[in-house]
Amino acid sequence: MDVPVFTELGSLYALMDEHGDRLRRDLVLTVDVQGDTFPVWCLEIGSNDLRAPAIGFFGGVHGMERIGTQVLIAWLQTLLERARWDVHYQQLLESVRVVFMPMVNPGGLVLGTRANPAGVDLMRSAPVQAEKRALPLLGGHRVSPHLPWYRGRVEDPLPPEASALFEVVRARLHPHPFSIAMDCHSGFGFRDRLWFPYARTQEPAPNIAEAFALREIFNRTYPNHSFYLMEPQSASYTTHGDLWDFLYDEYRERYRGLFLPFTLEMGSWLWVKKNPRQFFSWFGLFNPILPHRLERVLRRHLILFDFLLHAAASWQNWRPDAARRETCRQEAMKRWFAG
Ligand SMILES: [Zn+2]
Repeated sequence: MDVPVFTELGSLYALMDEHGDRLRRDLVLTVDVQGDTFPVWCLEIGSNDLRAPAIGFFGGVHGMERIGTQVLIAWLQTLLERARWDVHYQQLLESVRVVFMPMVNPGGLVLGTRANPAGVDLMRSAPVQAEKRALPLLGGHRVSPHLPWYRGRVEDPLPPEASALFEVVRARLHPHPFSIAMDCHSGFGFRDRLWFPYARTQEPAPNIAEAFALREIFNRTYPNHSFYLMEPQSASYTTHGDLWDFLYDEYRERYRGLFLPFTLEMGSWLWVKKNPRQFFSWFGLFNPILPHRLERVLRRHLILFDFLLHAAASWQNWRPDAARRETCRQEAMKRWFAG
């Protein structure tokens, strides 16, 4: 396919060339933008046994949050290099399926927009209605594609990028007994937040005990990585149309296993605070600009991603049993829902 190559796509193709024998690849969608065609790739390494656990990494849902795509390409490179020489990683990958969809919305990446080329905010586009009133505009609206956070018209089908993401999750994560999804964003607040469902309601999701248990092993394993603020998304704000709310509820209707979707919301206000000139650049509101800061962000989350990969592979060793689950649930209620 003859496509204009922008930086992230070039990096992805370099990895695909270099590690052709280790990567399974599927072109799941093409997106036309102003006469050019851009690919949406799904790449996989590791086991493809449906009895194994699985983990999926997603990025670029919001086009201008390019750092999400960049941290995933950096992580994929690390993982592929480890798989080349590290016997422990080779064994690990025999027991877990690893899915990458690092550029869900290439049209938004090219255009420098949050939305897809049709003006739809993918993260507001799922058929999910917030239970109480979501924030005006930001929570998702059907007013106009010229305003941010547009959900599309009620009669519209799911946008093609969201539909491709749904198909990837339904075919490659949901059928497994355990799976994690990690969707990388940037832009909200001074902290790096790890959000889990729900976005649509302030009611606790049925798996807060498991989310709490995962948080606990992360904090115990990495006591000096306290910079993540893990919480249900509704603790920050509620929205309509959240893709992961929809996929989480759908999974629970169809399967009896465990599917834990997380969104990493990298706190970009910190980068702006440290380099205030970024405030005057649209790109700079969502991405680190100075080279040393970009490098810092690209390495900052490697430990988390590696932790999640191992946590997926060893999920049966930390998933709380019935007694422990009740304790975790009570702790989770105290921490996240006491108000
Ligand atoms: Zn985002």
